[in-house]
Amino acid sequence: MSALLVCVARRVEARAVRSGAPTADIVTRDAVTEPTEFAGAFAARAARARAVAVMGLASALDGVARPGDLVVTTDCATNDTTAPMSSAVTITNALRARGLTVHRDPAWLLDALVDDDTTRVASFAAGRPVAVVRAITGHAPGNGWSPDDVTLAPAIRSLRAAAVVLDAWARACRERRVLVAGPRSFCAGVERAIEIVERALARRGAPVYVRRQIVHNAHVVEDLEARGAVFVEELHEVPDGATVVLAAHGVTPAVRDNAHERDLDVIDATCPLVAKVHREAKRFADRGYSIVLVGHEDHEEVQGTIGEAPNSIRVVASADEAERLHVADPTRVAWLTQTTLAVDEVHDVVDRLRARFPVIEGPSSDDICYATQNRQEAVRAIAPECDLLLVVGSRNSSNSNRLVEVAQREGCVAHLVEDDTELQLEWLRDAATIGITAGASAPDALVWRIIDRLRSLGRVEVDERVVMHESVRFTLPVEVR
Ligand code: SF4
Repeated sequence: MSALLVCVARRVEARAVRSGAPTADIVTRDAVTEPTEFAGAFAARAARARAVAVMGLASALDGVARPGDLVVTTDCATNDTTAPMSSAVTITNALRARGLTVHRDPAWLLDALVDDDTTRVASFAAGRPVAVVRAITGHAPGNGWSPDDVTLAPAIRSLRAAAVVLDAWARACRERRVLVAGPRSFCAGVERAIEIVERALARRGAPVYVRRQIVHNAHVVEDLEARGAVFVEELHEVPDGATVVLAAHGVTPAVRDNAHERDLDVIDATCPLVAKVHREAKRFADRGYSIVLVGHEDHEEVQGTIGEAPNSIRVVASADEAERLHVADPTRVAWLTQTTLAVDEVHDVVDRLRARFPVIEGPSSDDICYATQNRQEAVRAIAPECDLLLVVGSRNSSNSNRLVEVAQREGCVAHLVEDDTELQLEWLRDAATIGITAGASAPDALVWRIIDRLRSLGRVEVDERVVMHESVRFTLPVEVR
């Protein structure tokens, strides 16, 4: 059975589609001229496909589109209603990910023939996902497309590339179950940091400067930027006397001192749980201990913690590094951790440290924060049931990356995605059960946007699996209370 049934108007289009999707079932409109014959042939074949599409060449009225651009239809007008083409966004994202230029339903398109076929296909699809994709041949003011007056090569190439994508789309179309992990998304530290910037904007007015990403998420940063926050790398980019917010991951004392020396209006959004690790580092360093900080040296949080006791801290990222570590006095050693690591990996490293330094001291309570631990626990609970697990988060988000690794250690295929635009149709092909979570810095709305994309591929049963409820809240700094 072919997953994809394609309706094309002409043989030249059929050849292009065939070369991109060799297993697709293709109905050529000009080979079946009688409307009733066409309807019968198409409806019978649609019943055997997972998804149906209309593909073809089209011309444009003005100079906006270039030959080879693609047009994806978002709505299909049937006799008396307009039916949304629910996969249009998913297909557009997949085409753009292949470097193709895609327009959505422009008014300048000329192609009545394909419009007719679209209406028929939509009515024969019987609830199956439907897509309409056209490749622009050129501009033909007033006359529509004609094979004689345009160069077809760029459009044929794009039609072939679109067929590859639509074939993957059809194979991804199926009914499925989605397990949504809970807790997921924002932690108390991230909520607090965002609220600090929002309140600073409301009280001081824009611009409010923020040193580095307030939390490691591109969507959060974009949203705050649109509301007047200005993100900078270093304090010298902040004008004298301006308000500056220090990000949730914490900073070195040198940064804080510099901000005060410059008389900046400083609001510190360092998460209280990161600040706790800073205090522990200082306490051990003041007692003359060598501090082994388990974490990733290039992460901003680790850089901030090192800054509290630069001469006392050594960073180790693995049990092997712990094995090779040398300290001045093995009887005066302490360990601390970055807050967003994988719990089981840290245990391996700490076990190795304890074996080497039996009197090593640790933090008063676990440094891996409650939010990191809970999100990992929630992933562990659903991963064994999932064919695929998606973690919503930015590439530079430590806790999001750890969630991917936790799922993979449970034997599950897992991917990190910034948002629904990064969803790859090939991942979904055999995925009947998909798990979804979001890192502590990623907005929950992005999770539901991905679920909407999955719904465009067939019926979805959503099952939220909450392993525990969180009620942690941190007080705001006095400057914005
Ligand atoms: Fe604070 Fe943990 Fe959230 Fe980081 S992940 S901001 S340490 S609560």
